[in-house]
Amino acid sequence: MNTVEENNSTNNNTEILIIGGGPVGIQAARLIKHFSSDADVMVVRPEPHSMVYCAIPYAIEGLFPLSKTFKSDDLITETGATLIKHKVASVNMKEHSVVLDNGHGIKFKKMLIATGAIPFLPPVPGIGLKNIFSIKTGKDAQDVITALSGDAECGAESPSGKHTGAQKAVVIGAGAIGLEQALAYRARNLEVHLVDIMSYPLSMMLDPDMSDEVTQELVKAGVHLHLGKGLKAFHGKTAVSSVELDNGTIIDLEEGADFAIVSVGMRPDLSVFSDSGIKIEKDGIVVDKHMKTSIDGVWAAGDCVQFTSGIDGDVIGGKLATNAVPMAKIAALDMVGKDAEYPGFYNGAITIAGDIRVGGTGFTQTLAAKRGIDVYSTVGSSKTRFPMMPGAGTVKVKLVFRRDTNVIIGGQVVGTEAIAERIDLITLAIQQKLNAHDLSKFSYSSQPWQTFYPAKNAIVEAAEKATGLL
Ligand SMILES: Cc1cc2nc3c(=O)[nH]c(=O)nc-3n(C[C@H](O)[C@H](O)[C@H](O)COP(=O)(O)OP(=O)(O)OC[C@H]3O[C@@H](n4cnc5c(N)ncnc54)[C@H](O)[C@@H]3O)c2cc1C
Repeated sequence: MNTVEENNSTNNNTEILIIGGGPVGIQAARLIKHFSSDADVMVVRPEPHSMVYCAIPYAIEGLFPLSKTFKSDDLITETGATLIKHKVASVNMKEHSVVLDNGHGIKFKKMLIATGAIPFLPPVPGIGLKNIFSIKTGKDAQDVITALSGDAECGAESPSGKHTGAQKAVVIGAGAIGLEQALAYRARNLEVHLVDIMSYPLSMMLDPDMSDEVTQELVKAGVHLHLGKGLKAFHGKTAVSSVELDNGTIIDLEEGADFAIVSVGMRPDLSVFSDSGIKIEKDGIVVDKHMKTSIDGVWAAGDCVQFTSGIDGDVIGGKLATNAVPMAKIAALDMVGKDAEYPGFYNGAITIAGDIRVGGTGFTQTLAAKRGIDVYSTVGSSKTRFPMMPGAGTVKVKLVFRRDTNVIIGGQVVGTEAIAERIDLITLAIQQKLNAHDLSKFSYSSQPWQTFYPAKNAIVEAAEKATGLL
């Protein structure tokens, strides 16, 4: 086993240096060692543990301890790769070398940058106050768990003299992470306020006409919605005591006990590369189809890169593990001399809001219009099981087609079950550039517990409407 907790040698040379130990760093190290077992691979990451970020909201909810989200270092070291638990402090691309935060240097032949993304904090007054959190790292999650339990240093004193936990939370941003946070705090019985500048939740995933059920679920869960309202300022002496919105609404908080969460998007984590000469644009490091950067011998993958849509070839956001992992595979294969390239990404994504599950893939109608693509949409719906079966719920599918070719470029699904499977199938249809006619002939299965009657499938129904058959 090759774990190096403290790197005390004055100099190290390695064939392949991977900066970052998230899904990209792990996946790439494993693949490189798989194809090139003799290769000397070193992974540098500062955290004590890599984490399953997607599960953090549920650890905060209290479904399991936070430690269950920790990944084992064996994922890296069992392959024979070396793990160094430090941060890269500076990079010299000309000399192919880095310096760690303990002052030690490492020279490399090839490097993969996999530094991920960090939460964007809008530059509003009061953003630096205590008890304003964002969610990414294990420390972020622990800070929130501590605030919930009231063990925080700045926890409010109750009349009994004991620290009381938070009673109220304001979540800024009604995207998937914001929604999952808001519902986790409701599950812990907090008064929860959810704020978003858009007039409906999950606006990156859904069009407004598909969002009603999500809004209803949030209301049913007791979340106070402030939609179509922007964040203006945080107020407080040392910790946040109120949140001011741009319509004048003030949401009061107990200073030192309650908290606010900022969840308005992620930005690539590239501060260490700012003077390195590597080409960086708004969404991250610029890479080609092989994940090669502008510097010879240096690749980049995952949340730290700027990538393009498989639909129109233009730059698209979408900091998702399901984009990051395929990028890691392409980078790793290319680094060991195997042919691999990516055709763009589709942003298939899913989440959950109370009793319903939600997913989106490709372009919404709103996004297509912004990108100048003329589209139309159709909707199909059905029960999720034969109607006489226990637990039969509903599913609604919206498909978005190009008006010029009838080729599918987007899909949204809202319902009680089997949402991920439908989203993945629609993503495949988008990747394969199927048109409405192709999709209306898609051959499906049926069984009382798992689908509606054979007579109807919601995706096929939406496609048939697009062909004019219905
Ligand atoms: C709360 C939450 C929920 C999410 N849920 C989902 C979900 O349900 N589905 C989904 O697909 N995606 C989800 N994501 C997104 C997903 O976690 C990311 O897309 C994914 O982790 C990106 O992987 P990465 O390897 O590119 O970067 P990261 O996982 O961010 O890893 C980057 C690594 O680089 C390290 N690093 C940074 N700078 C340096 C440096 N200078 N030196 C050394 N190391 C450095 C970091 O410390 C870290 O180890 C979620 C994210 C969060 C925060």
